[in-house]
Amino acid sequence: MQNALQTRTVRVSDQVLIGSGHPIVVQTMCNTHTADVEATVAQCRRLVAAGAQMVRITVPSMKDVEALSAIHRQLRAEGIEVPLVADIHFSSEIAMAVVPVVEKIRINPGNFHPDHAKARELFGLFLERCKAYGRAVRIGLNHGSLGKYIVERYGNTPEAMALAAMEWIEMCIEADFYQVVVSLKASNTVVMVEAYRALVRLMQERGVVFPLHVGVTEAGNGESGRIKSCVAISTLLAEGIGQTIRVSLTEAPENEIPVAQYLARRYGIPGQAGNDVHAMPDSASKAVMPDNDRASREEAILKAACDWGAPLLNHEVDDIPLEDQHLKDEILQACRRRFYKPEYIACPGCGRTLYDLESTFNEVKARTAHFKDVVIAVMGCIVNGPGEMADADYGYVGEGHGMVTLYRKKDPVLRHIPENEAVDKLVALITADREG
Ligand code: SF4
Repeated sequence: MQNALQTRTVRVSDQVLIGSGHPIVVQTMCNTHTADVEATVAQCRRLVAAGAQMVRITVPSMKDVEALSAIHRQLRAEGIEVPLVADIHFSSEIAMAVVPVVEKIRINPGNFHPDHAKARELFGLFLERCKAYGRAVRIGLNHGSLGKYIVERYGNTPEAMALAAMEWIEMCIEADFYQVVVSLKASNTVVMVEAYRALVRLMQERGVVFPLHVGVTEAGNGESGRIKSCVAISTLLAEGIGQTIRVSLTEAPENEIPVAQYLARRYGIPGQAGNDVHAMPDSASKAVMPDNDRASREEAILKAACDWGAPLLNHEVDDIPLEDQHLKDEILQACRRRFYKPEYIACPGCGRTLYDLESTFNEVKARTAHFKDVVIAVMGCIVNGPGEMADADYGYVGEGHGMVTLYRKKDPVLRHIPENEAVDKLVALITADREG
Protein backbone atom coordinates (compact mmCIF):
# COMPACT_ATOMS: atom_id res chain seq x y z
CA MET A 1 0.00 0.00 0.00
CA GLN A 2 1.38 3.40 -0.92
CA ASN A 3 1.81 6.06 1.68
CA ALA A 4 0.58 8.78 -0.65
CA LEU A 5 -2.47 10.27 1.02
CA GLN A 6 -2.49 14.00 0.46
CA THR A 7 -4.48 16.12 2.90
CA ARG A 8 -5.09 19.79 3.36
CA THR A 9 -2.96 21.55 5.93
CA VAL A 10 -4.39 23.08 9.09
CA ARG A 11 -2.48 25.88 10.76
CA VAL A 12 -2.88 25.64 14.53
CA SER A 13 -0.11 28.13 15.29
CA ASP A 14 3.00 29.48 13.56
CA GLN A 15 4.90 26.41 14.78
CA VAL A 16 2.26 23.71 14.48
CA LEU A 17 0.96 22.76 11.04
CA ILE A 18 -1.07 19.58 10.64
CA GLY A 19 -1.24 17.98 7.21
CA SER A 20 0.50 15.71 4.74
CA GLY A 21 3.96 17.01 3.95
CA HIS A 22 4.43 18.08 7.57
CA PRO A 23 5.85 15.86 10.31
CA ILE A 24 3.30 14.00 12.44
CA VAL A 25 2.27 16.21 15.36
CA VAL A 26 2.41 14.53 18.79
CA GLN A 27 -0.26 15.57 21.25
CA THR A 28 -1.65 14.62 24.63
CA MET A 29 -4.16 15.78 27.24
CA CYS A 30 -3.94 17.04 30.80
CA ASN A 31 -5.59 14.96 33.52
CA THR A 32 -5.45 17.69 36.15
CA HIS A 33 -8.55 19.61 37.18
CA THR A 34 -8.75 22.61 34.87
CA ALA A 35 -9.88 24.85 37.72
CA ASP A 36 -6.55 24.08 39.41
CA VAL A 37 -4.60 26.49 37.24
CA GLU A 38 -1.29 25.95 39.00
CA ALA A 39 -1.41 22.15 38.69
CA THR A 40 -2.51 22.33 35.05
CA VAL A 41 0.22 24.81 34.11
CA ALA A 42 2.77 22.58 35.88
CA GLN A 43 1.54 19.55 33.95
CA CYS A 44 1.67 21.49 30.66
CA ARG A 45 5.30 22.40 31.41
CA ARG A 46 6.14 18.72 31.97
CA LEU A 47 4.30 17.63 28.84
CA VAL A 48 6.05 20.21 26.67
CA ALA A 49 9.43 19.25 28.17
CA ALA A 50 8.63 15.61 27.31
CA GLY A 51 7.91 16.58 23.69
CA ALA A 52 4.16 17.30 23.43
CA GLN A 53 3.47 19.65 20.52
CA MET A 54 -0.17 20.30 21.45
CA VAL A 55 -1.92 19.92 24.79
CA ARG A 56 -5.65 19.38 25.23
CA ILE A 57 -7.48 20.51 28.33
CA THR A 58 -11.05 19.65 29.29
CA VAL A 59 -13.53 22.48 29.87
CA PRO A 60 -16.43 20.89 31.73
CA SER A 61 -18.22 24.12 32.71
CA MET A 62 -18.40 27.82 31.95
CA LYS A 63 -16.45 28.45 35.17
CA ASP A 64 -13.50 26.56 33.66
CA VAL A 65 -13.29 28.93 30.69
CA GLU A 66 -11.67 31.59 32.88
CA ALA A 67 -9.26 28.97 34.29
CA LEU A 68 -8.35 27.94 30.75
CA SER A 69 -7.66 31.55 29.90
CA ALA A 70 -5.43 31.91 32.98
CA ILE A 71 -3.53 28.73 32.02
CA HIS A 72 -2.99 30.07 28.50
CA ARG A 73 -1.77 33.46 29.78
CA GLN A 74 0.59 31.86 32.29
CA LEU A 75 2.16 29.57 29.69
CA ARG A 76 2.69 32.43 27.25
CA ALA A 77 4.16 34.58 30.04
CA GLU A 78 6.69 31.79 30.60
CA GLY A 79 7.52 31.69 26.88
CA ILE A 80 5.79 28.32 26.36
CA GLU A 81 4.10 28.58 22.98
CA VAL A 82 2.45 25.14 22.87
CA PRO A 83 -1.02 25.42 21.29
CA LEU A 84 -3.84 24.53 23.68
CA VAL A 85 -6.87 22.56 22.57
CA ALA A 86 -10.13 22.96 24.50
CA ASP A 87 -11.98 19.67 24.90
CA ILE A 88 -15.72 20.31 24.83
CA HIS A 89 -18.56 17.87 25.28
CA PHE A 90 -22.26 18.55 24.85
CA SER A 91 -22.19 22.33 25.34
CA SER A 92 -22.18 24.67 22.35
CA GLU A 93 -22.20 27.54 24.84
CA ILE A 94 -18.81 26.50 26.26
CA ALA A 95 -17.52 25.81 22.75
CA MET A 96 -18.40 29.37 21.73
CA ALA A 97 -16.86 30.78 24.90
CA VAL A 98 -13.44 29.15 24.43
CA VAL A 99 -12.95 30.28 20.83
CA PRO A 100 -11.23 33.55 21.78
CA VAL A 101 -9.12 31.74 24.39
CA VAL A 102 -7.24 28.85 22.71
CA GLU A 103 -5.79 27.87 19.35
CA LYS A 104 -7.96 24.82 18.70
CA ILE A 105 -11.28 23.41 19.88
CA ARG A 106 -12.30 19.77 19.90
CA ILE A 107 -16.04 19.18 19.62
CA ASN A 108 -18.55 16.52 18.60
CA PRO A 109 -21.15 18.71 16.87
CA GLY A 110 -23.80 15.99 17.13
CA ASN A 111 -23.78 16.50 20.88
CA PHE A 112 -24.41 20.25 20.65
CA HIS A 113 -28.14 19.64 20.97
CA PRO A 114 -30.47 16.62 21.18
CA ASP A 115 -32.43 18.00 18.23
CA HIS A 116 -30.31 17.38 15.14
CA ALA A 117 -31.51 20.44 13.21
CA LYS A 118 -30.68 22.62 16.21
CA ALA A 119 -27.25 20.97 16.53
CA ARG A 120 -26.58 21.86 12.88
CA GLU A 121 -27.62 25.45 13.47
CA LEU A 122 -25.36 25.76 16.53
CA PHE A 123 -22.46 24.18 14.67
CA GLY A 124 -22.88 26.72 11.86
CA LEU A 125 -22.64 29.58 14.37
CA PHE A 126 -19.61 27.94 15.98
CA LEU A 127 -17.83 27.70 12.62
CA GLU A 128 -18.50 31.39 11.93
CA ARG A 129 -16.91 32.27 15.25
CA CYS A 130 -13.87 30.03 14.67
CA LYS A 131 -13.41 31.60 11.25
CA ALA A 132 -13.55 35.09 12.71
CA TYR A 133 -10.86 34.22 15.28
CA GLY A 134 -8.74 32.07 12.92
CA ARG A 135 -9.09 28.98 15.12
CA ALA A 136 -8.63 25.34 14.21
CA VAL A 137 -11.28 22.74 15.01
CA ARG A 138 -11.23 19.01 15.57
CA ILE A 139 -14.44 17.20 14.79
CA GLY A 140 -14.08 14.23 17.12
CA LEU A 141 -16.60 11.40 16.85
CA ASN A 142 -16.09 8.32 18.98
CA HIS A 143 -17.57 4.88 18.50
CA GLY A 144 -20.16 4.42 21.23
CA SER A 145 -21.10 8.09 21.44
CA LEU A 146 -22.41 8.70 17.96
CA GLY A 147 -25.74 10.00 19.14
CA LYS A 148 -29.28 8.73 18.61
CA TYR A 149 -29.84 10.51 15.29
CA ILE A 150 -26.76 8.95 13.70
CA VAL A 151 -27.29 5.44 15.09
CA GLU A 152 -30.93 5.41 13.98
CA ARG A 153 -29.98 6.63 10.55
CA TYR A 154 -26.71 4.80 9.82
CA GLY A 155 -26.30 2.15 12.55
CA ASN A 156 -23.28 1.85 14.85
CA THR A 157 -20.61 0.69 12.44
CA PRO A 158 -17.30 2.08 11.12
CA GLU A 159 -19.12 3.24 8.00
CA ALA A 160 -21.72 4.99 10.17
CA MET A 161 -18.96 6.85 11.98
CA ALA A 162 -17.50 7.98 8.65
CA LEU A 163 -20.88 9.02 7.25
CA ALA A 164 -21.67 10.91 10.44
CA ALA A 165 -18.37 12.79 10.15
CA MET A 166 -19.06 13.59 6.50
CA GLU A 167 -22.21 15.48 7.41
CA TRP A 168 -20.20 17.91 9.55
CA ILE A 169 -17.37 18.04 7.02
CA GLU A 170 -19.88 19.00 4.34
CA MET A 171 -21.06 21.86 6.56
CA CYS A 172 -17.46 23.05 6.97
CA ILE A 173 -16.95 23.04 3.20
CA GLU A 174 -20.23 24.91 2.67
CA ALA A 175 -19.09 27.47 5.24
CA ASP A 176 -15.74 27.79 3.42
CA PHE A 177 -14.02 26.74 6.66
CA TYR A 178 -10.98 24.51 6.15
CA GLN A 179 -9.20 24.69 9.49
CA VAL A 180 -10.52 21.22 10.29
CA VAL A 181 -8.98 18.02 11.63
CA VAL A 182 -11.15 14.91 12.02
CA SER A 183 -10.96 11.91 14.37
CA LEU A 184 -13.02 8.72 14.56
CA LYS A 185 -11.67 6.93 17.60
CA ALA A 186 -12.72 3.58 19.01
CA SER A 187 -11.25 1.23 21.57
CA ASN A 188 -11.88 -1.68 19.22
CA THR A 189 -8.87 -1.60 16.88
CA VAL A 190 -10.72 -3.22 13.96
CA VAL A 191 -13.56 -0.68 14.17
CA MET A 192 -11.11 2.19 14.53
CA VAL A 193 -8.97 1.25 11.50
CA GLU A 194 -12.02 0.59 9.31
CA ALA A 195 -13.67 3.86 10.34
CA TYR A 196 -10.67 5.97 9.33
CA ARG A 197 -10.26 4.10 6.04
CA ALA A 198 -13.96 4.62 5.26
CA LEU A 199 -13.71 8.31 6.05
CA VAL A 200 -10.66 8.76 3.83
CA ARG A 201 -12.50 7.05 0.95
CA LEU A 202 -15.48 9.38 1.40
CA MET A 203 -13.33 12.50 1.66
CA GLN A 204 -11.39 11.48 -1.46
CA GLU A 205 -14.67 11.01 -3.33
CA ARG A 206 -15.71 14.46 -2.13
CA GLY A 207 -12.40 15.90 -3.30
CA VAL A 208 -11.50 17.47 0.06
CA VAL A 209 -9.31 15.48 2.44
CA PHE A 210 -8.89 16.97 5.88
CA PRO A 211 -5.99 15.85 8.07
CA LEU A 212 -6.73 13.05 10.51
CA HIS A 213 -6.13 12.96 14.25
CA VAL A 214 -5.58 9.26 14.93
CA GLY A 215 -5.79 7.40 18.21
CA VAL A 216 -7.25 4.38 19.96
CA THR A 217 -9.53 5.60 22.68
CA GLU A 218 -9.73 3.91 26.10
CA ALA A 219 -6.68 1.76 25.26
CA GLY A 220 -5.87 1.09 28.93
CA ASN A 221 -2.39 1.15 30.40
CA GLY A 222 0.92 -0.69 30.64
CA GLU A 223 2.09 -2.94 27.84
CA SER A 224 -1.51 -3.72 26.77
CA GLY A 225 -2.33 -0.04 26.26
CA ARG A 226 0.86 0.61 24.33
CA ILE A 227 0.38 -2.43 22.11
CA LYS A 228 -3.29 -1.72 21.42
CA SER A 229 -2.43 1.85 20.41
CA CYS A 230 0.54 0.85 18.27
CA VAL A 231 -1.08 -1.96 16.26
CA ALA A 232 -3.90 0.32 15.10
CA ILE A 233 -2.14 3.67 14.79
CA SER A 234 0.81 2.13 12.93
CA THR A 235 -1.53 0.38 10.48
CA LEU A 236 -3.05 3.72 9.55
CA LEU A 237 0.18 5.72 9.58
CA ALA A 238 1.67 3.25 7.10
CA GLU A 239 -1.18 4.22 4.76
CA GLY A 240 -0.55 7.94 5.27
CA ILE A 241 -3.61 8.25 7.55
CA GLY A 242 -2.68 10.22 10.66
CA GLN A 243 -1.29 13.74 10.54
CA THR A 244 -1.49 14.14 14.32
CA ILE A 245 -1.61 11.37 16.91
CA ARG A 246 -2.44 10.80 20.53
CA VAL A 247 -1.59 7.62 22.38
CA SER A 248 -4.21 7.52 25.18
CA LEU A 249 -2.97 5.71 28.28
CA THR A 250 -4.54 5.38 31.71
CA GLU A 251 -1.30 6.68 33.21
CA ALA A 252 0.41 10.02 33.68
CA PRO A 253 0.07 11.74 30.28
CA GLU A 254 3.85 12.26 30.19
CA ASN A 255 4.12 8.51 29.58
CA GLU A 256 2.19 8.81 26.34
CA ILE A 257 4.80 10.97 24.66
CA PRO A 258 7.64 8.46 24.10
CA VAL A 259 5.17 6.02 22.53
CA ALA A 260 3.75 8.68 20.22
CA GLN A 261 7.25 9.89 19.37
CA TYR A 262 8.31 6.36 18.45
CA LEU A 263 5.37 6.19 16.01
CA ALA A 264 6.06 9.67 14.63
CA ARG A 265 9.74 8.83 14.05
CA ARG A 266 9.00 5.49 12.48
CA TYR A 267 6.42 6.78 10.00
CA GLY A 268 8.08 10.09 9.15
CA ILE A 269 6.19 12.66 7.17
CA PRO A 270 2.72 11.47 6.08
CA GLY A 271 2.16 11.60 2.36
CA GLN A 272 5.87 11.63 1.57
CA ALA A 273 7.29 8.81 -0.50
CA GLY A 274 9.91 6.52 1.02
CA ASN A 275 8.39 6.24 4.48
CA ASP A 276 8.10 3.02 6.44
CA VAL A 277 5.12 1.82 4.44
CA HIS A 278 3.42 -1.41 5.31
CA ALA A 279 5.61 -4.42 4.51
CA MET A 280 5.81 -7.87 6.01
CA PRO A 281 8.22 -7.89 8.96
CA ASP A 282 11.55 -9.64 8.62
CA SER A 283 12.92 -12.34 10.86
CA ALA A 284 14.31 -9.74 13.28
CA SER A 285 10.76 -9.35 14.52
CA LYS A 286 11.08 -12.73 16.22
CA ALA A 287 13.54 -11.15 18.63
CA VAL A 288 13.27 -12.18 22.27
CA MET A 289 12.42 -9.20 24.42
CA PRO A 290 15.24 -7.76 26.48
CA ASP A 291 13.98 -7.69 30.08
CA ASN A 292 16.92 -6.12 31.84
CA ASP A 293 16.49 -2.61 30.50
CA ARG A 294 13.05 -0.99 30.73
CA ALA A 295 13.61 1.49 27.88
CA SER A 296 14.87 -1.09 25.41
CA ARG A 297 12.12 -3.52 26.37
CA GLU A 298 9.53 -0.79 25.75
CA GLU A 299 11.04 0.03 22.37
CA ALA A 300 11.14 -3.66 21.43
CA ILE A 301 7.46 -3.99 22.38
CA LEU A 302 6.50 -0.97 20.30
CA LYS A 303 8.49 -2.29 17.36
CA ALA A 304 6.87 -5.74 17.51
CA ALA A 305 3.38 -4.18 17.79
CA CYS A 306 4.05 -1.96 14.76
CA ASP A 307 5.65 -4.81 12.80
CA TRP A 308 2.75 -7.20 13.31
CA GLY A 309 -0.25 -4.87 13.69
CA ALA A 310 -1.06 -4.43 10.00
CA PRO A 311 -0.46 -8.06 8.92
CA LEU A 312 -2.82 -9.26 11.69
CA LEU A 313 -5.47 -6.57 11.32
CA ASN A 314 -5.44 -7.05 7.54
CA HIS A 315 -5.67 -10.86 7.96
CA GLU A 316 -2.48 -11.37 5.97
CA VAL A 317 -1.21 -13.70 8.69
CA ASP A 318 -3.01 -15.75 11.34
CA ASP A 319 -0.14 -16.22 13.75
CA ILE A 320 3.15 -14.50 14.52
CA PRO A 321 6.54 -16.03 15.22
CA LEU A 322 7.35 -14.21 18.47
CA GLU A 323 9.19 -16.22 21.10
CA ASP A 324 7.94 -14.04 23.95
CA GLN A 325 4.55 -15.71 24.61
CA HIS A 326 3.14 -12.82 26.66
CA LEU A 327 3.96 -10.31 23.94
CA LYS A 328 2.53 -12.59 21.30
CA ASP A 329 -0.71 -13.00 23.30
CA GLU A 330 -0.98 -9.26 23.80
CA ILE A 331 -0.46 -8.42 20.12
CA LEU A 332 -2.93 -11.09 18.97
CA GLN A 333 -5.53 -9.80 21.41
CA ALA A 334 -4.89 -6.15 20.51
CA CYS A 335 -5.63 -7.11 16.90
CA ARG A 336 -8.70 -9.05 18.07
CA ARG A 337 -7.44 -12.27 16.52
CA ARG A 338 -7.25 -14.32 19.75
CA PHE A 339 -8.46 -13.49 23.26
CA TYR A 340 -6.46 -14.86 26.18
CA LYS A 341 -7.80 -12.57 28.92
CA PRO A 342 -10.74 -10.19 29.43
CA GLU A 343 -10.81 -7.23 27.11
CA TYR A 344 -10.30 -4.06 29.13
CA ILE A 345 -11.39 -0.57 28.21
CA ALA A 346 -10.22 2.34 30.35
CA CYS A 347 -10.28 6.01 29.54
CA PRO A 348 -7.11 8.02 30.11
CA GLY A 349 -8.84 10.29 32.62
CA CYS A 350 -8.98 14.07 32.38
CA GLY A 351 -10.09 17.03 34.46
CA ARG A 352 -13.49 15.39 34.84
CA THR A 353 -12.07 12.40 36.69
CA LEU A 354 -12.76 12.54 40.43
CA TYR A 355 -11.11 9.34 41.68
CA ASP A 356 -7.81 7.50 41.37
CA LEU A 357 -8.50 6.00 37.97
CA GLU A 358 -5.14 4.31 37.38
CA SER A 359 -4.97 2.39 40.66
CA THR A 360 -8.65 1.43 40.42
CA PHE A 361 -8.11 0.16 36.89
CA ASN A 362 -5.12 -1.89 38.06
CA GLU A 363 -7.21 -3.35 40.89
CA VAL A 364 -10.07 -4.22 38.52
CA LYS A 365 -7.61 -5.95 36.18
CA ALA A 366 -6.07 -7.95 39.01
CA ARG A 367 -9.45 -9.01 40.42
CA THR A 368 -11.10 -9.93 37.09
CA ALA A 369 -8.23 -11.57 35.19
CA HIS A 370 -9.84 -15.01 35.63
CA PHE A 371 -12.96 -14.06 33.65
CA LYS A 372 -12.70 -14.88 29.96
CA ASP A 373 -14.77 -13.63 27.04
CA VAL A 374 -15.86 -10.49 28.78
CA VAL A 375 -15.29 -6.80 28.11
CA ILE A 376 -14.84 -4.67 31.24
CA ALA A 377 -14.69 -0.87 31.20
CA VAL A 378 -13.35 1.51 33.84
CA MET A 379 -14.32 5.07 33.06
CA GLY A 380 -13.41 8.34 34.71
CA CYS A 381 -16.70 10.22 34.62
CA ILE A 382 -20.44 9.75 34.43
CA VAL A 383 -20.82 12.46 31.77
CA ASN A 384 -18.97 10.67 28.97
CA GLY A 385 -18.04 7.30 30.44
CA PRO A 386 -21.31 5.43 29.80
CA GLY A 387 -21.48 6.58 26.18
CA GLU A 388 -17.81 6.04 25.45
CA MET A 389 -17.51 2.51 26.77
CA ALA A 390 -19.12 1.27 23.54
CA ASP A 391 -19.49 -2.52 23.60
CA ALA A 392 -18.40 -3.21 27.17
CA ASP A 393 -20.24 -6.01 29.01
CA TYR A 394 -19.62 -4.35 32.38
CA GLY A 395 -18.67 -0.84 33.35
CA TYR A 396 -17.24 0.81 36.45
CA VAL A 397 -18.02 4.51 36.13
CA GLY A 398 -17.01 7.21 38.63
CA GLU A 399 -19.90 9.45 39.66
CA GLY A 400 -17.86 11.87 41.78
CA HIS A 401 -18.17 12.42 45.54
CA GLY A 402 -16.63 8.99 46.22
CA MET A 403 -19.46 7.14 44.46
CA VAL A 404 -19.54 4.70 41.56
CA THR A 405 -22.20 3.35 39.20
CA LEU A 406 -21.83 -0.18 37.86
CA TYR A 407 -23.19 -1.00 34.43
CA ARG A 408 -24.25 -4.20 32.72
CA LYS A 409 -23.99 -3.33 29.01
CA LYS A 410 -25.64 0.10 28.71
CA ASP A 411 -27.79 -0.28 31.83
CA PRO A 412 -26.81 1.17 35.20
CA VAL A 413 -27.53 -1.73 37.56
CA LEU A 414 -26.00 -0.50 40.83
CA ARG A 415 -25.85 3.22 41.53
CA HIS A 416 -24.20 5.28 44.26
CA ILE A 417 -21.84 2.52 45.44
CA PRO A 418 -19.09 3.81 47.75
CA GLU A 419 -15.71 3.53 46.02
CA ASN A 420 -14.29 1.18 48.64
CA GLU A 421 -17.04 -1.37 47.89
CA ALA A 422 -17.32 -0.93 44.14
CA VAL A 423 -14.68 -3.39 42.90
CA ASP A 424 -16.08 -6.14 45.19
CA LYS A 425 -19.55 -5.45 43.84
CA LEU A 426 -18.31 -5.49 40.24
CA VAL A 427 -16.65 -8.88 40.75
CA ALA A 428 -19.80 -10.20 42.48
CA LEU A 429 -21.98 -8.92 39.63
CA ILE A 430 -19.92 -10.64 36.94
CA THR A 431 -19.67 -13.84 39.01
CA ALA A 432 -23.43 -13.97 39.64
CA ASP A 433 -24.20 -13.41 35.93
CA ARG A 434 -21.83 -16.19 34.90
CA GLU A 435 -23.13 -18.62 37.49
CA GLY A 436 -26.76 -17.74 36.90
FE1 SF4 B 1 -12.40 12.39 30.78
FE2 SF4 B 1 -12.61 9.70 30.97
FE3 SF4 B 1 -14.80 11.25 31.21
FE4 SF4 B 1 -13.56 10.94 28.81
S1 SF4 B 1 -14.65 9.35 30.02
S2 SF4 B 1 -14.33 12.87 29.68
S3 SF4 B 1 -11.39 10.88 29.46
S4 SF4 B 1 -13.01 11.20 32.59
